[in-house]
Amino acid sequence: MIKTDILIIGAGPTGLFAVFEAGLLKLKCHIIDALPQPGGQLSEIYPKKPIYDIPGFPEVLAGGLVDNLMNQIKAFEPGFTLGERAETIEKLDDGSFIVTTNKGTKHHAPVIAIAGGLGSFEPRKPPLNNIDLYEDKGIAYFIKNPEIYRDKKVVIAGGGDSALDWTIYLADVASEVTLIHRRNEFRGALDSVEKAQELRKLGKINLITPAEVTELHGDEKLEALTVSRNGIEERLETDHFIPLFGLAPKLGPMANWGLEIEKNAIKVNNALDYQTNIPGIFAIGDVNTYPGKLKLILCGFHEATLMCQSAFQIVNPGKKYVMKYTTVSGVDGFDGSRKEAPKAVIKSIE
Ligand SMILES: Cc1cc2nc3c(=O)[nH]c(=O)nc-3n(C[C@H](O)[C@H](O)[C@H](O)COP(=O)(O)OP(=O)(O)OC[C@H]3O[C@@H](n4cnc5c(N)ncnc54)[C@H](O)[C@@H]3O)c2cc1C
Repeated sequence: MIKTDILIIGAGPTGLFAVFEAGLLKLKCHIIDALPQPGGQLSEIYPKKPIYDIPGFPEVLAGGLVDNLMNQIKAFEPGFTLGERAETIEKLDDGSFIVTTNKGTKHHAPVIAIAGGLGSFEPRKPPLNNIDLYEDKGIAYFIKNPEIYRDKKVVIAGGGDSALDWTIYLADVASEVTLIHRRNEFRGALDSVEKAQELRKLGKINLITPAEVTELHGDEKLEALTVSRNGIEERLETDHFIPLFGLAPKLGPMANWGLEIEKNAIKVNNALDYQTNIPGIFAIGDVNTYPGKLKLILCGFHEATLMCQSAFQIVNPGKKYVMKYTTVSGVDGFDGSRKEAPKAVIKSIE
C-alpha cells in the first residue's frame, strides 16, 4: 500500500504543479497516471509546440514546460505510479481514501486531487478477436521499458511518429523488428520516414505495407500473427506485437466515483477550494467545471494552489498555516535541499 498526504490522479501540468504547492505546505504527494510518462496533453499531444500564455515565459515548448515542472518538484520527491489507470476509490470510516489502479496497485491518502484533464488516455486498439487475452502476454500498447524487447522478435503496427520512432529505436535492441502499416505512406516526421527506409535497405528492419494484422495466435502467450497484404495472408512468428494507433482520452472510471458530473467534467466549488461533492476529493485543471471555467494551464496552476490550502487543513486539523512568499521563506525540499534568496536582497515584510 502506497501512503501519502495528497494522492494526485493525473500527471499533467496541473497535477505536477500541485506537488510544488503541496511541498511548500510540507505535504507529500504521489501521482498516478495512465500514461507511461508525465506531462498529460503536453507530452502526449503537442510536446514540440510552443505555448505563449504561461506567465513569465514569452514562449516555451510544451515538452520544455513539463521538464521545468519536473525539475521544480524534484526536491519534494513525489512518488509516481505511471502506466496505470486509477480505477476505484473507496472511502474509509476515518474519511481517508483507498485508490486502486487497473493493475491492482493500492494507494492510501486523506486527500485526493483529481487532475485527470480530459480523462485517461486510452490506446486505440485494433479490432482483433481475443486481443485482451494477449495483453501483457506479448501485446502492449505503450513501451515502458524497451529492454524487455532485447533479443526478441517484435512486430509494430502503425503509421505515425510513435510507430516509426520505436521501430528505429528497437532496430538496435530486438533480434528482429517488423513494421506493418495499412498504407504505403507514413504520417511521421520526414527524417523518421527516411531513417526507417534506410534501416530497411540495410536489412535491419522489415517493412510490410500496405498490410494489416488480422489474427493473433498462441496458447499461454502470443506466438504468431496472421498478416494480410493485398488479400494474401501469411503467418508471422513473433514474441511481441505493439499496435501504436494513437491514444484517445476517456473520462473513464472517474464517471463512476459518485462525483457530480456536468458536461463531461467534475462539478466543483469554485468559491473556495475546488472540492467536489465528496469531502476530501478535489478536482483541478481541465477535468473540473464551474461557472466561467477556462481550460488553460495557468487556471490549473491557480486551482492547484488553492486546493492545497484546504488539503493542509484536512491533513493537519486545527493547525494554522500562514502563507509566506517563497522569496521570503525559501523552499525546503524533502530531500534536505534548501533554496533561498540572498538576505541582503530580499527583506521580509511582517
Ligand atoms: C493542441 C493543444 C494546444 C494547447 N495549447 C495551449 C496553450 O497554448 N495554452 C494553454 O494554457 N493551454 C493549452 N492547451 C490546453 C492544455 O494542454 C490543458 O489545459 C492542460 O493540459 C490541462 O492540464 P491538466 O493537468 O489539467 O490535464 P491533462 O494535461 O489532460 O493531464 C491529465 C492526465 O490525467 C491522466 N488521467 C486521467 N484520468 C486518469 C485515471 N483515471 N487514472 C490515471 N491517470 C488519469 C491522463 O492520462 C493525463 O495524463 C492546449 C491543448 C491542446 C490539445
